[in-house]
Amino acid sequence: MPSSAHPRGQAIADAAARVIPGGVNSSTRYIGAPYSFASAEGAYVVDADGNRYLDYHAAFGAILLGHNAAVVNDAVRATIGGIDLVGLGVTEGEVALAERVVEIIPSAESMIATMSGSEAVAQAIRLARGVTGRDLVVKFQGGFHGWSDAVARNVISAPDKAYGSDPLSSGILPQALDSTLIAEFNDLDSVTALFDQYPDRVAAVIMEPIPHNVGALLPTTEFVSGLRKLTEVNDALLIFDEVITGLRHSLGGYQEVIGITPDLTTFGKGLANGYASGGVAGRRDLMEHFNGRTGDVLLAGTFNGNPIGCAAALATIGYLQEHPDFYERTFALGDRMRTGLTEIVTELDIEATALGFGGVFVLYFTKPPILGYRDLMRNNDEAYVAFHRGMTERGFLMLPMALKRNHISGAHTAEDVDRTLDAARDVLVELRA
Ligand code: PLP
Repeated sequence: MPSSAHPRGQAIADAAARVIPGGVNSSTRYIGAPYSFASAEGAYVVDADGNRYLDYHAAFGAILLGHNAAVVNDAVRATIGGIDLVGLGVTEGEVALAERVVEIIPSAESMIATMSGSEAVAQAIRLARGVTGRDLVVKFQGGFHGWSDAVARNVISAPDKAYGSDPLSSGILPQALDSTLIAEFNDLDSVTALFDQYPDRVAAVIMEPIPHNVGALLPTTEFVSGLRKLTEVNDALLIFDEVITGLRHSLGGYQEVIGITPDLTTFGKGLANGYASGGVAGRRDLMEHFNGRTGDVLLAGTFNGNPIGCAAALATIGYLQEHPDFYERTFALGDRMRTGLTEIVTELDIEATALGFGGVFVLYFTKPPILGYRDLMRNNDEAYVAFHRGMTERGFLMLPMALKRNHISGAHTAEDVDRTLDAARDVLVELRA
């Protein structure tokens, strides 16, 4: 169990507070204790005070194969000293990455590379508006698609704000907020109603195929196929934001799992196993609007398609292509975790539900059914946060914030899962007391 004292972490946090607003470089990195992480290997991270944690946070899901995966690091090392950045033309690495994405992702006929998921989503939404000439975008309450103005609203909302206007930030133009409409996940009628209310104005529906930003709401096939038809009939685009689900749940993304092909797909996070990367892929006729000579939608970014991100992404995809057992292993471990958690909460008579898909798991503190955001408003957030905090204090890193998901990477083992379940039992017994 890690020490509760963090003298070195405290010193770093104090220094950070003097020069970085809030002491962290992303609002959701605040963990409520002076943790500063210094190294990482496989399924483990080590803090500045030498405490070792089994990592389920996985950099919000950017770590897929495990920390410092040798195959990825080797590919990155091989680019250093070769090409850094020229900013003209295209490199072989960019072409190879686009070719690979086109090969594995059902919706991908061509691809652009970005530096992050937020950039990918911002580009996809601008493309949707540019192509259709329409102004509105539909997103779901609970879905998160990065920090860009177009989508920065209604993720985890208080009950009085859910489905209303709940911007993630001040400083967003009201016109941008008003141009994003909010629907309920797994409720096709809520989307149909918006198409009816705003005829010929919806450019796109954007969705996380599994909204992992509120844990793991599992989509019904009828819902997603209904969205596919609804968007087609209304000449709007369907965008799958696969920043978390892409590669993690299947080489071809969740679209391959559910067998429904969107018009555009966005990537980020696990694409390059911890190195900065992202992208948009989709139908060629749509993507051609990004063509700098003949198209009408600006594609810009000094670091787009940078050699390190491309090399890391290619190595990550290459590894998964050569090791399809990655999916068998992470899915089996995910099932072992969910089954174990279900047994524990049943035995302890705690109102909680283990859900997830593949290697992603959550323990909601509410009863089923859990299909949409409305169901999540019943979640006991206090218990959820206390559970994650208790686990982290015992050396199992889980972000102590409501509805945050946990990730099993390619480096976790069955023994890790069993140790986690033992600790979970202790934490839950304490919580029940
Ligand atoms: N889309 C989804 C589904 C995400 O979960 C995130 C980040 O959490 C983003 C987009 C934004 O990605 P990034 O943080 O790389 O900008």
